[in-house]
Amino acid sequence: MFWGEKRYYSVDYYLKQAFGEKVYRLALNGGMTCPNRDGTLGSRGCIFCSAAGSGDFAQDGCAPIPEQLAAAKGQLRNKRNCRKFIAYFQAYTNTYAPVEKLRKLFMDAIKDPDVVILSIATRPDCLSGEVLKLLEGLNRIKPVWVELGLQTVHSETSRFIRSGFTLECFHQAVFQLHQRGIPSIVHVILGLPGESGAQMLETVSHVGRLPVFGIKLQLLHVLSGTDLGTLYRERPFPLFTQEEYCEMVCRCLELLPPSITIHRLTGDGPKELLMAPLWSRAKRSVLNQIHQTLKEQDTWQGKYF
Ligand code: SF4
Repeated sequence: MFWGEKRYYSVDYYLKQAFGEKVYRLALNGGMTCPNRDGTLGSRGCIFCSAAGSGDFAQDGCAPIPEQLAAAKGQLRNKRNCRKFIAYFQAYTNTYAPVEKLRKLFMDAIKDPDVVILSIATRPDCLSGEVLKLLEGLNRIKPVWVELGLQTVHSETSRFIRSGFTLECFHQAVFQLHQRGIPSIVHVILGLPGESGAQMLETVSHVGRLPVFGIKLQLLHVLSGTDLGTLYRERPFPLFTQEEYCEMVCRCLELLPPSITIHRLTGDGPKELLMAPLWSRAKRSVLNQIHQTLKEQDTWQGKYF
């Protein structure tokens, strides 16, 4: 099965169908923190999370949103001719603030005529009734996507990485978003310490059975300045080789339904912080190898769903 030239339903394909052209992501910073960092649930964050709260490529959180949008667009326009954008609130937990503050931030983003989608990264335990109501209202103005960092369905790993929420809480968030017609995108990390390949496939297959719009498959990056980085330095644990990772991604795609959009197949670890695996720096080469493996094995997203 093909989506354009690809054997999986890439979000780029979806966006081109929906908007008639490529749509670019602008990574923003709403200046929030995270309950896993401010002492509410914990103070050290998830063990893999960098000081930038997984927003290493986002703009400066002190700048107003219109300024951030202008700066991010400027960076992209230096490279290509791009006209339509996703305003992506990426850094930290982007629903972790009073609802009126959130309304102002998100309205500032969707007021921009070049912004066609608002995408908000958050935690499943930070979606109160009033936040959901706000997102539902905004979704009537422009499409709103909510990105949820699940990482794994296995409670032991979840405790190890200190995610701080349960699988039940994640399910609740997915169903509440679905009921309100808000598409969700689930982040999964492949290669977490102690997890077998079978466990990773269980996580992906689990997500594939939920009413979600998309999935991000993220290679585990070990970053310096994180607790995972310290652990790796002291007691290195096994990481995927490029070949193993590409095989794993193909197995994951086979288990996902053909209707789920694929938002990421590799990862974007900041080069200056990346300790391992260093092969992941060559993102294009990893993607090419995934495409080649799918072709050689004559397989595709949903083959075994
Ligand atoms: S929930 Fe997100 S921002 Fe918060 S510590 Fe974990 S990865 Fe970082």
